[in-house]
Amino acid sequence: MTKVAPGSLLDIEHLEATEIAALLKLARRMNPLQPKLRLRGKRVLLLFYEASTRTRSSFEIAAQSMGAMTTLVLSSGSSVEKGESLLDTGYTLEAVGADALVVRHPAAGAPLLLARHLKIPVINAGDGMHEHPSQALLDAYTILGHKKTLSGRKVVILGDIYHSRVARSAIHLLSKFACRVTLCGPPELLPESAAGLAPGLEIVRSAEDAMRGADVILVLRLQKERLLGMKIGLEDYTARYQMTMPRLRLAKRDALLLHPGPINRGLEITAEVADCPQSAIVEEVRNGVRVRMAILARALRTA
Ligand code: ASP
Repeated sequence: MTKVAPGSLLDIEHLEATEIAALLKLARRMNPLQPKLRLRGKRVLLLFYEASTRTRSSFEIAAQSMGAMTTLVLSSGSSVEKGESLLDTGYTLEAVGADALVVRHPAAGAPLLLARHLKIPVINAGDGMHEHPSQALLDAYTILGHKKTLSGRKVVILGDIYHSRVARSAIHLLSKFACRVTLCGPPELLPESAAGLAPGLEIVRSAEDAMRGADVILVLRLQKERLLGMKIGLEDYTARYQMTMPRLRLAKRDALLLHPGPINRGLEITAEVADCPQSAIVEEVRNGVRVRMAILARALRTA
């Protein structure tokens, strides 16, 4: 990968397993309720060109709880609306004194572009259909809160894999830790070529078959905003791929249920599954704060 500012977190694909393990270890040392003021005097700029609730608020809380000052810049209401380019916005934020930039953007590669040109670390908070590294880290953290190791676990990723940056980051991370990853969804949302993302990926079209023996199920939101004219019959989709209790019962008895949010109850997941004891959806959000504290501490070299 071309040179980027040290401490940047752009994707999981190019992160060594040892670096991932170190980040997860650092996250375990983070205490969001009694944090050390590791980022006192630092300024963290959050630049969001897409909607976000969990990622944005948890990065902000993570930064502030460690003593950093944060400023949120949204594309709407900023000079982006006046036609300013991404790079010019980046240079501006660096010039006002940002020590780190957290970026969400609809275009894949936007954080990489910034990281190549700026001197401050850039953290990818989700770029188009590419990657969402902090989500994969918090998912791994959540799984490890319930299972001793990742190695050998059967993880099913269910639903709209094609449009999902969460799926891409998860696939890279889980494959680096020798999980058995099964992808499940209809051909429109899961092309055969997805099997090339990492070695050993299995594609299973039947949700029932996929669930058998699963240790972890990661359900994805149907990304309606990215379907762009693609014709997906919602009734057929829910009939075949909705995460329901009968399907969950086919997995291991202690299978863990994950979903990055926002959840669409009644579409990709039933309310019953979302709220069942095996669901770690709220826990994922909670873990997101300490994982993002670790990411920021690494970025600003204060760990
Ligand atoms: N919140 C996640 C993301 O930004 C998942 C989703 O929106 O479906 O990618």
